[in-house]
Amino acid sequence: MFTGHQVLRDAPMRDYTTLKLGGPADYMALPASGEEVAELLKEAGDRGMPVTVLGHGSNVLVLDGGIRGLVIRMGRGMNRAEADGRRITARAGTMMGSLAALAADSGLTGLEFASGIPGTVGGGVLMNAGAYGGEMSQVVREVTGVMPDGSIRTLAGEELGFGYRRSAMQENGMIVTSVVFELTEGDPESIRARMTELNRRRAESQPLDVPSAGSTFKRPEGAYAAALIDQCGLKGYAVGGARVSPKHVGFLVNTGESAKDFLDLMLAVQRIVEERTGIRLEPEVRIIGETEA
Ligand SMILES: Cc1cc2nc3c(=O)[nH]c(=O)nc-3n(C[C@H](O)[C@H](O)[C@H](O)COP(=O)(O)OP(=O)(O)OC[C@H]3O[C@@H](n4cnc5c(N)ncnc54)[C@H](O)[C@@H]3O)c2cc1C
Repeated sequence: MFTGHQVLRDAPMRDYTTLKLGGPADYMALPASGEEVAELLKEAGDRGMPVTVLGHGSNVLVLDGGIRGLVIRMGRGMNRAEADGRRITARAGTMMGSLAALAADSGLTGLEFASGIPGTVGGGVLMNAGAYGGEMSQVVREVTGVMPDGSIRTLAGEELGFGYRRSAMQENGMIVTSVVFELTEGDPESIRARMTELNRRRAESQPLDVPSAGSTFKRPEGAYAAALIDQCGLKGYAVGGARVSPKHVGFLVNTGESAKDFLDLMLAVQRIVEERTGIRLEPEVRIIGETEA
């Protein structure tokens, strides 16, 4: 099965997600090229096996029963980025921090916001990740990937369908393999200074030493999720080992071993906030896998 590819069996998802939760994936492949992604997709399809894509696992809650079928993880094998003039081409497994560092070293501004987002370029594009006024949509020009039918496509401009934490790739099932960014020339020292400042602000306000998936809920129209959760007196509220962070109320953190606790906490926060404020919080974290093996 999957001969010639680097594939692990029963890979514990808690080792591959920042929440440190989740049961095993039946198979987990670590491809090293876009062609390999296409081959893996075809092999899984031939066997009727579902496919799930994962980057750094910093925006997912994998449930306790794990993931059936094949997980394609965009990791070290897909980690390469090159600058050429004002453009950077990065493979999907490149970490946003390394991408932002390459931009700074190349005297290119526009990716400072991304330096502290602990995910990959592929996950960042899929989520249209953003922070401190910046977001991927402002700097992404082209996205190449493998479509569910196995064809390779490049999308640009309107086709990318970017919105708040939204992209066309969430709908069309593309597995992103590489991304072209277009940036503006700037002074490397001021770019680095801005990155240092943003990362200082992040460390000051976010519980970076406890497992989390960042902000659990999206920002609702005209309000802030953290402010609503705080207003409902939920700071520190816990279900088992899952807890509303006292440092940043928008972050639900994990101090235990149960994805069920985490999901129950998400649902409880959602219910209480809706009852008391009339506003329904939508998860930003993507929930993957089975409740039971
Ligand atoms: C401490 C902390 C701080 C954070 N701060 C921010 C922040 O400031 N702003 C922000 O926007 N987010 C933030 N996040 C959330 C997260 O880092 C981002 O959403 C990030 O872009 C996810 O990237 P990832 O590689 O980890 O994706 P994953 O979590 O692995 O995947 C996320 C989704 O993308 C899909 N996916 C991943 N790679 C691909 C691919 N190559 N092709 C197709 N689909 C793919 C997955 O199937 C999944 O649905 C934070 C998270 C943490 C833990």
